[in-house]
Amino acid sequence: MKDQRRDLPSVNTLLETSGVKWLLDQHPRRIVVDAVRSAVEAARTAGGAQPTDEQWVETIASAVRDATRPSLRRVINATGVVLHTNLGRAPLADAAIRAIGHVAEGYSNLEYDIETGHRGSRYSHCVGLLRQLTDAEDALVVNNCAAALVLTLNALAQKKEVLVSRGELVEIGGSFRIPDIMARSGAKLVEVGTTNRTHDDDYRRAITPKTAAIVKVHRSNFTIEGFTAEVSVDRLAFIAAEHGLPVIYDLGSGLLLPLDDYGLSGEPTASAALASGATLVLMSGDKLLGGPQAGIILGSAAVVAKLRKNPFARAMRVDKLTLSALEATLRLYLEPGRALKEVPILAMLTESVEQLESRARSVVSSLRSSNIDAEVAPSTASVGGGAFPTADIPSRAVVLSKDVERTEERLRRGEPAVIGRIADGKLLLDLRSVLPREDGVLVQAIVKARS
Ligand SMILES: *Cc1c(COP(=O)(O)O)cnc(C)c1O
Repeated sequence: MKDQRRDLPSVNTLLETSGVKWLLDQHPRRIVVDAVRSAVEAARTAGGAQPTDEQWVETIASAVRDATRPSLRRVINATGVVLHTNLGRAPLADAAIRAIGHVAEGYSNLEYDIETGHRGSRYSHCVGLLRQLTDAEDALVVNNCAAALVLTLNALAQKKEVLVSRGELVEIGGSFRIPDIMARSGAKLVEVGTTNRTHDDDYRRAITPKTAAIVKVHRSNFTIEGFTAEVSVDRLAFIAAEHGLPVIYDLGSGLLLPLDDYGLSGEPTASAALASGATLVLMSGDKLLGGPQAGIILGSAAVVAKLRKNPFARAMRVDKLTLSALEATLRLYLEPGRALKEVPILAMLTESVEQLESRARSVVSSLRSSNIDAEVAPSTASVGGGAFPTADIPSRAVVLSKDVERTEERLRRGEPAVIGRIADGKLLLDLRSVLPREDGVLVQAIVKARS
């Protein structure tokens, strides 16, 4: 039998064909050349019959598509988990997106005082708004909440002891654990109490001349139930004050507006956390606040001043894009009604089931007019991202029952990727985590996945 592999065209021959020439006009030469090489290599490994000219171009074009696709790309989150850490947590408000574009386009007064014409401080941005919105004396923004914790403990408790309840030694996801993060700050953790119960006296007994702070970690991604006891922040503040110690409250979730009216309760707002007597409150910018990834430190002006001077503050400082997005997001909160509408996370969490039902019906009817069978079904969404861990939020899903696995895969690998979930052999696309303006794209993606 004749060895077909010997007849494979050379890379140069393929580069001369019209289909590949067209690709060379559109894309960087090295990407196309790599794609041709890998196509030839793949054909050699596969053996068998020579690909036709058309097949060559198809294989090469697909390799070029893969190579030119951005690694970080847009995804439609139809999981029903609104703050999905793997899917980038909070989508930004339009105002925040515009602010980033504006600042990114040119130079900015990041560290320049326009009034005086002298050097300014990047730490001045967002502080006024954070103070206004939370009644904090002062504020500092760093890269994320974990950084805020490391900076705080390093500045206040390096080589000293920090008390934390055994019931709060939590893992925050991606197998990162708060106690490990705290230990890296150079502070020594002193665990007090037990997993389920910690009392005032557990803290009191553990305080020594080496104690530098009491830390309270908000149980943001789990609850403990049954025979439990914990010491509230106001009690901790009282105990700490007896010894002149600060209370650091790692709140994580970053809620600025109460959401009790929408069936979401139990998560303290930043201002309530401060009002309960914490010296510092630490939270994320991209959880319930709905802004960019950031760590926000709120509280005592004297302590925040100390943090600003710590070398970690420089290592963990935020960039101008983050500050611009955070400032624009915070500004929306000056009018709570506006924040509820325009901060996507808040809009998604507070959208009525009636509204979701009507969106789901309209998606289903568009699908049916493309001959795709789909139904609307009740679904249960969740907040995710370390906040309101037990909240079941009523929602609506578009349900596809045919060809489920293949549809799921094609949707996931499509452009944009659509991530849903399979339950009881059906594919559920929960609309609570889909932005209303994505509904049309979602329909197109489903039609394409089913084609
Ligand atoms: C999420 C969370 C963190 C970490 O926040 P990042 O901004 O992701 O670094 C820390 N502490 C608590 C309690 C959290 O919920």
